[in-house]
Amino acid sequence: MAISEKMQLFGRKSSWIRKMFEEGARMKAEFGADNVCDFSLGNPDLPPPPQFTEVIRRITADERPGVHGYMPNGGYPWVKEALAAKMSTEQGVTIAGSDMLMTCGAAGGLNVVFKALLNPGEEVILLAPYFVEYNFYLDNHGGVGRTVNTDGEFNLDLGAIEAAISANTKAIVINSPNNPTGQIYDAESLAALGKLLETAGRRFGTVIYLIADEPYRKIVFDGGSVPGVMAACRNSIVVSSYSKDLSLPGERIGYLAVHPEIDAKAELIDALTLANRILGFVNAPALMQRVVAELQGVTVDTAVYARRRESFCSILREAGYTFTAPKGAFYIFPQSPLADDVAFIALLQEQRILAVPGVGFGAAGHFRLAFCVEDEVIRRSAEGFQKAMAKAKE
Ligand code: PLP
Repeated sequence: MAISEKMQLFGRKSSWIRKMFEEGARMKAEFGADNVCDFSLGNPDLPPPPQFTEVIRRITADERPGVHGYMPNGGYPWVKEALAAKMSTEQGVTIAGSDMLMTCGAAGGLNVVFKALLNPGEEVILLAPYFVEYNFYLDNHGGVGRTVNTDGEFNLDLGAIEAAISANTKAIVINSPNNPTGQIYDAESLAALGKLLETAGRRFGTVIYLIADEPYRKIVFDGGSVPGVMAACRNSIVVSSYSKDLSLPGERIGYLAVHPEIDAKAELIDALTLANRILGFVNAPALMQRVVAELQGVTVDTAVYARRRESFCSILREAGYTFTAPKGAFYIFPQSPLADDVAFIALLQEQRILAVPGVGFGAAGHFRLAFCVEDEVIRRSAEGFQKAMAKAKE
């Protein structure tokens, strides 16, 4: 076999999300797309806001020499300044353009951060349930994921986090609003986490970084908001993108910011910039950088996601499922009526409903439903959810 043993292994255990997506494609070919309810993939179905099309038309008309050329590896300075102003408001600290990097999506940003920070074998705490790609990204840079469960409501379990920290802990990743639970961590628990990381770092003579993965920050419900981690923790790095809130996942445009008072800031930014260059991205896409600089404060119509969340929650409630209504993002993470979530996913599949088992997020006994699909698909799924529940009870 030509490919490496590790990639063979990764291929075998690669994401449940992709597996279900492929299963969905097969079922749609067999039964017709209108007869399958596919809630497997977090691929936003809403179009980008109309301003996106206007800005892109104007920008592509610019024919000055160099507009499509290489740039500083961290991104256009003026773009970073435009983003820093908005981020300062979100995070409650003053972030400069020079504290930021433009990245190839949040995924690119996370890889850049891990590359810059990790020595081989160092641990990064991941809070289950979590976005499963984190483990692959950590492995790319020699890091090791250390899973810690959240509490029964998917909030931070500070005692469990504290117990998992050792001299070998380099960072913790938090994701709020969360994929797959839709949970948002409140300001008090973030402040307590910040204090805990600082105390533990002092105890071990290390720095433990708080890495906040925030691509869903702007998709929140019931007038909620997402407290900034930088107000809670000095050694923090925020990674985000426009994949979800502008519906641009295929355009690969994201960014990261370091806390303005983070330890060894100049060296860290140099390392992040070098990582952006040598991981093969070289820089984030030039055209998209110029586009998003002009779209600060613009988002997709999040009222559509709010409406779908309402209708999906009532369908699930009526069918007898147990779940916590999401506060943000576009996922619901109900308890599986069967202890074996993979077996329950198969019951849903008999009803032509596609969901992802919780085991794919490090949290067996649950399943994830992505509601970035048309309202009609959600409505159509009601009977199938009832029948699957009835079968699970047999
Ligand atoms: N982090 C989380 C929690 C996600 O759900 C995703 C994508 O689904 C990403 C990161 C990657 O986002 P991007 O497409 O911006 O790389």
